[in-house]
Amino acid sequence: VFRNKLEFFAAAKISSSFPPPTLPEIAFAGVSNVGKSSLLNALTRQWGIVRTSDKPGLTQSINFFRLASKLCLVDLPGYGFAYAKEEVKESWQELKKCLLVHTKRGMKPLDYELVDLMERHKTPYQIVLTKTDLVFPIDVARRAMEIQESLKKNKSVVNPVMMVSSKTGAGIRNLRDDKAETDHL
Ligand code: GDP
Repeated sequence: VFRNKLEFFAAAKISSSFPPPTLPEIAFAGVSNVGKSSLLNALTRQWGIVRTSDKPGLTQSINFFRLASKLCLVDLPGYGFAYAKEEVKESWQELKKCLLVHTKRGMKPLDYELVDLMERHKTPYQIVLTKTDLVFPIDVARRAMEIQESLKKNKSVVNPVMMVSSKTGAGIRNLRDDKAETDHL
């Protein structure tokens, strides 16, 4: 399904203006500049459709993309914005999540807050380490283990941490296959 054309079809700031959920949805969350837009681009190979930028916090609205009328990818704004708006925060809970974590920086307090939120609502989620090309492979593995350890106390089953680089393409196919599998597509 990820080989298909990615089509932007809606942008919204509050859940009341979300498009009707007719397709399975996967939402991508993470701190600003974590590499979210780049990952969406790499996953779908539609360079340039999701805007990437060096300026943190520029993705302010929640953007909806359709893939071959089978899957909906949702680009959530950086935490800075979303945590300020209660409605947006609430709307996150309805979506299945991919939590992106910068490999070099690790989990931030807001990431743990989101994990707690997802645990409370029993929302399935996948942690994805981004920009793995920026550190040595051993440090990527170390970071993954550290996160896995820190999440052990949580009750719900946490999938093994996935690792990607949108720049080199490492891990992108795995993530794509994983998402396709979990969504039975
Ligand atoms: P967003 O704010 O989370 O959507 O982040 P972007 O996708 O806009 O990326 C933020 C910055 O990180 C941009 O300068 C990207 O070129 C860079 N970036 C994104 N992914 C990678 C990656 O896998 N490796 C490296 N080295 N840089 C990346």
